Amino acid sequence: MRIELLSSSIPPSDLQFLVSFLVNDEVAIDAGAIGLMADLRRQQRVKHVFITHEHLDHVATLPIFLENVYDPGPECVEVLASREVLDFLHGDMFNGRVWPDFIDLSRPSDAFVRTTAIEPLQPITRAGVTITPVPVSHGVATLGLVVDDGRTAVAFPSDTGPTENFWRHLASLDRLKAVFLEASFPRALADLATLTGHLSTVTFADEISKLQRQVRWIVVHRKARHAEVIARELESLGLTNVELIRPGHVYEL
Ligand SMILES: [Zn+2]
Ligand SMILES: [Zn+2]
Repeated sequence: MRIELLSSSIPPSDLQFLVSFLVNDEVAIDAGAIGLMADLRRQQRVKHVFITHEHLDHVATLPIFLENVYDPGPECVEVLASREVLDFLHGDMFNGRVWPDFIDLSRPSDAFVRTTAIEPLQPITRAGVTITPVPVSHGVATLGLVVDDGRTAVAFPSDTGPTENFWRHLASLDRLKAVFLEASFPRALADLATLTGHLSTVTFADEISKLQRQVRWIVVHRKARHAEVIARELESLGLTNVELIRPGHVYEL
């Protein structure tokens, strides 16, 4: 499986402002930056976009992306999210003011987008990968996603504070190779992390100890202003198998 966290800074750097992963170039997890890929053919290859929750760093360029790839005709992008998130997208983004209502404007013969509601623990298969949504513990209802191609499984807990069910779900997944886990805040802001449903460098170590198996832990979602401090604090914990994400790098897992 090929996984890439898209760069979201100008020029590209290790700073991460927005969230979107590509899986095998055809499935996107979150739409923070997919509308910014300079190679439009890469945007056109993305046919299925899973949205974990409605926070702006995860949906920011969804309208731009749908505009970029629209081709008159019945073929269109599929956006998959919980019913609640789909309602937010329709009411707050594609509402005819912030952006045209691509959802109501879509007809079977000429569509901008089609939406599919996903449910916790109900696997759904798209473009050769099976994706299982598993709730995590964030400030708003959020679905972590487990992506499995039959040989390798990779986990995307998305934004989360300390959580339980997600790790229980992964415990029996023998094919699990990597987890892209957030570490949003440094130790000094641990209280803010708790308040907002994120991990700090204090709770990060607790979380990875909940999964009793050897996987690659790839750290994502460091708040840009604290990214260096977070990196130093994680380093000082001396954890094995923990590495910082490299935006724009393709992980072959
Ligand atoms: Zn969030
Ligand atoms: Zn986020």
